[in-house]
Amino acid sequence: MAEPVTTETDIQENLLAVGERIAAAAKAAGREPVAVTLIAISKVHPAAAAKAALSAGHRVFGENRVQEAEDKWPALKEAFPDARLHLVGGLQRNKVKGAIALFDAIHTIDRLKLARAVAQEMEKSGHRPDCFIQINTGEEAQKGGVLPGDADALITACRDDLALPVVGLMCIPPVDEEASLHFALLGDLARRNGLPALSMGMSGDFETAIRFGATHVRVGTGVFGERPAHKPEN
Ligand SMILES: *Cc1c(COP(=O)(O)O)cnc(C)c1O
Repeated sequence: MAEPVTTETDIQENLLAVGERIAAAAKAAGREPVAVTLIAISKVHPAAAAKAALSAGHRVFGENRVQEAEDKWPALKEAFPDARLHLVGGLQRNKVKGAIALFDAIHTIDRLKLARAVAQEMEKSGHRPDCFIQINTGEEAQKGGVLPGDADALITACRDDLALPVVGLMCIPPVDEEASLHFALLGDLARRNGLPALSMGMSGDFETAIRFGATHVRVGTGVFGERPAHKPEN
């Protein structure tokens, strides 16, 4: 099967189009477009795709695997020092050191042991990426994230006991459910804990997420096209 080909021009046009849709959704919700950050999710795509977006002026990116990001991003960050990289995939404790060194934000803090390892590594390295707590709003067994009922306790432990720089919450709604219910739940949890940032919304539902207060939308396919079938080993 032929790999889908997304050219540099496609990526530039996609960025403009997604940017316009974000601005329109924000205005429709009575919000400022600049209050919503587009995280371009470059996972599985080659470094050249990320470079095309960087050349077009985009600066905020997301990856879901530490190893893949370590292969791709040090060179890109050297060429574009103001690029910002967000980790949006699950984090294993043996990858914490590399993640803290490379990423500017981590969206997937979801358990105390991991939070402790992250706090320890921040202490050691002096790097303090922004932290989002991932909430498993759909209570799906296979999905990462703390259960909504355990969220307040984990947020408090991360902020008050471990002094992590917690900025907000993140969720990935179940594919077969109305996403808005999950976005609303995430917003309620964030408000109740005084957290300003909401990482929610992907290519298929980012406009809905913006209506429900998303401050960070994570868009992969909408920017880079379909992901190549072959995934790099991790
Ligand atoms: C891949 C991924 C996205 C982007 O998904 P698209 O549907 O391609 O926009 C967003 N968030 C997370 C956590 C992802 O792993």
